Amino acid sequence: PVDQAEPDPSKKTLVVLGTGWGSVSLLKNLDTENYNVIVISPRNYFLFTPLLPSCTTGFVEHRSIMEPIRNFLRFKKAAVKFYEANATKIDYERKVVHISDESEIRGDTCATEVPFDMLVVGVGAENATFGIPGVREHSSFLKEVGDAQKIRTRIMDCIETATFKDQTPEETKRLLHMVVVGGGPTGVEFAGELQDFFESDLKKWMPEIRDKFHITLIEALPNVLPMFSKQLIEYTEKTFKEETISIRTKTMVKNVTEKYIEAEFTQPDGTKVMEQIPYGLLVWATGNAVRPIVADLMKQIPAQKDSRRGLAVNEFLVVKGAENVWAVGDCAIANYAPTAQVAAQEGMFLARLFNSMAKTEAIEKRLEALSEEQSKAAGEDRTRVLNDIKDGQKQLRRVKQIGPFEYSHQGSLAYIGSERAVADISWLSGNLATGGTLTYFFWRSAYLSMCFSTRNRILVIADWIKGTIFGRDMSRE
Ligand code: FAD
Ligand code: NAD
Repeated sequence: PVDQAEPDPSKKTLVVLGTGWGSVSLLKNLDTENYNVIVISPRNYFLFTPLLPSCTTGFVEHRSIMEPIRNFLRFKKAAVKFYEANATKIDYERKVVHISDESEIRGDTCATEVPFDMLVVGVGAENATFGIPGVREHSSFLKEVGDAQKIRTRIMDCIETATFKDQTPEETKRLLHMVVVGGGPTGVEFAGELQDFFESDLKKWMPEIRDKFHITLIEALPNVLPMFSKQLIEYTEKTFKEETISIRTKTMVKNVTEKYIEAEFTQPDGTKVMEQIPYGLLVWATGNAVRPIVADLMKQIPAQKDSRRGLAVNEFLVVKGAENVWAVGDCAIANYAPTAQVAAQEGMFLARLFNSMAKTEAIEKRLEALSEEQSKAAGEDRTRVLNDIKDGQKQLRRVKQIGPFEYSHQGSLAYIGSERAVADISWLSGNLATGGTLTYFFWRSAYLSMCFSTRNRILVIADWIKGTIFGRDMSRE
């Protein structure tokens, strides 16, 4: 790409926040020659989240599902600037983003401002804790690479500590109790991966823990995986029962301490009882919450005052009540579930919209010049100019034809352990709801095809082969 040290003053500056599913899909499909593109994110890589639960047990290595952002930006037609930083505030009035380098190594300048003409907010969401005491201090989330690494270390730490010489039976039982809070797909997939780790490797290598290791999945609602069909929910619950996973539904966690959680269970007669559940490892997967930078932007825009879960956007993904600000993915509220599938399609839509906006501007400029030329031209020249104007107007109508964003749902897939997956697929007409081993192979091939690059695909296949032949790596660090 052509490197531009300074932004081209004839082009608008498009600032993109985040390097997740939404922003990266936009960048992949954007013609970067039309804008001065600046990307800001604390993460200099894209993360393929669907395989993150597999990283918690080392079945897939985290680097296999990361793609360095600069690796793909270098193939864009015009250079894109990337700053590894957190956007700390969007000043909507002044059209600037405040950014800060919050990494370990910082230079003399570690906070500054980036002005924008157009802004895309794709910062995702943070983990919901609902203000429940002790969650942040004692549990592990599962959203980022660091979270998966922390869980991987903690699983082994619990097991090694449980088998420490003279450990009391009660303490051993606690340390080998792995509790997952939240029966959405993140919680279910993690429980499934952990069960696999136990079945395929831990049981063989540490027979002394085989009758003591236990996983509990806690869900506040009456069933897990609420977005799947009834039949698949039943299939998942039946599969978990056959394994060492207990499902505790209608159980809401209210408090977390270092060694146990306190949960409120609703009994069949409607009465509620509080219970203490000791744990060794606690994984918290109760969904999304709004990031502070998004909440702050919402406060600056009066039209956002009634929005609670993120930036309300219109059918062109424009942040309602704002000009030249768009939002994609988990931080945008457009009546779709916060999934990678939605974020990727939104990003692709914005790229088409921006490509078309740039073409529209170029054609309009040409038409302006032609109409001036026409006023001065005579004879044959005038006929030629008039023909050019007609062509230009036709082209303009074509590029302006871009309709509003429409999400096309390809289906939902989740891995549930023991080489089984569940899938609700809406293809052509009718829905296909399947579960089982065949679905598992479909899950594997679907996720493989969705990986960011061929490099990622090869690394993931190699990890799967390695894990199947040699088992998962149990070393703690
Ligand atoms: P993200 O992908 O979260 O990206 C947000 C980006 O913004 C990141 O690069 C982050 O570093 C950056 N950022 C954060 N704060 C700032 C800031 N202040 N300034 C600048 N940048 C910032 N969905 C599916 O459809 N299928 C699946 O199988 C699936 N599996 C999942 C498994 C797990 C374990 C998890 C956690 C999620 C899964 N999802 C899945 C959901 C999916 O990952 C999200 O919906 C998707 O990542 C949303 O994309 P996004 O671009 O909005 O946000
Ligand atoms: P989620 O919002 O889907 O599920 C969280 C669950 O936690 C809910 O069922 C909720 O009732 C429960 N919960 C909340 N507070 C609780 C409490 N105090 N005690 C007990 N239970 C409590 O969250 P998620 O699973 O992290 O998923 C987030 C988003 O990412 C969703 O849109 C999901 O579809 C998507 N995702 C998709 C996949 C996939 O398609 N395979 C995988 C992971 C995530």
